[in-house]
Amino acid sequence: MAQTVAQVEAFMAGAHLHQICTPNPEFVMAAQRDHTFYDILNQADLCIPDGVGLLWAARWLGQPIPERVPGSELVYHLAAAAAAHHWPLFLLGAAEGVAEQAGQVLQTLYPGLIVAGSYAGSPDPAEDERICGRINASGARLLYVAYGAPQQDKWIHRNRGRLTTVQVAIGVGGALDFISGKATRAPRWMQHLGVEWLYRLWREPWRWRRMLALPRFVWRLLWQKAGGRG
Ligand code: UDP
Repeated sequence: MAQTVAQVEAFMAGAHLHQICTPNPEFVMAAQRDHTFYDILNQADLCIPDGVGLLWAARWLGQPIPERVPGSELVYHLAAAAAAHHWPLFLLGAAEGVAEQAGQVLQTLYPGLIVAGSYAGSPDPAEDERICGRINASGARLLYVAYGAPQQDKWIHRNRGRLTTVQVAIGVGGALDFISGKATRAPRWMQHLGVEWLYRLWREPWRWRRMLALPRFVWRLLWQKAGGRG
């Protein structure tokens, strides 16, 4: 987590927009079928390991990752850094009013934080021009996009040339819902055991189909480890 924040500080010294993605096994499996998403993940300036499944897989494949860096926690750390360095933050996405509420919560937690703007907007490409105009006018340097994966990552990628002031943009999934209090995260003990996904399945059972990505991910790993290729 500390390395990630330091890397974002380094990105902020550069002129162009840097994209951060937060892969978990669902992302990895979705990217096997969705080639645009696959390329975006591979071209991202930084991919942080959001899911515990990636840590297991990395260790198992002999390339261990030091720790999980959940996007839902990084958003707090980056807001603290934004307050300390005076990076104006723009919150895009989630249901009507949620981004605004999340901005207020973050400002309470990190006094001095500049929330340049908040807007639900829409991931519909027809809206891109208008939304980017709004973000540019706000002067935001840090951007959180909450449209869910892979829509949020595609949104950032296709608009990177339109955003003139943003230096770091990150897809944050349901993080604004958590910050605003609209949704609750799993209890700490479940997070520590690496079974936060089980809590989400219980709260949002319609996710079961997406979660089939987990066993498919394990199968794919076994296959790769056994020397299989595709
Ligand atoms: N969302 C949105 N517009 C859309 C689709 C999703 O604003 O067209 C928001 C939704 O309100 C939620 C977030 O995107 O705040 C996606 O959350 P989810 O928990 O599904 O994220 P994921 O699990 O994909 O990271």
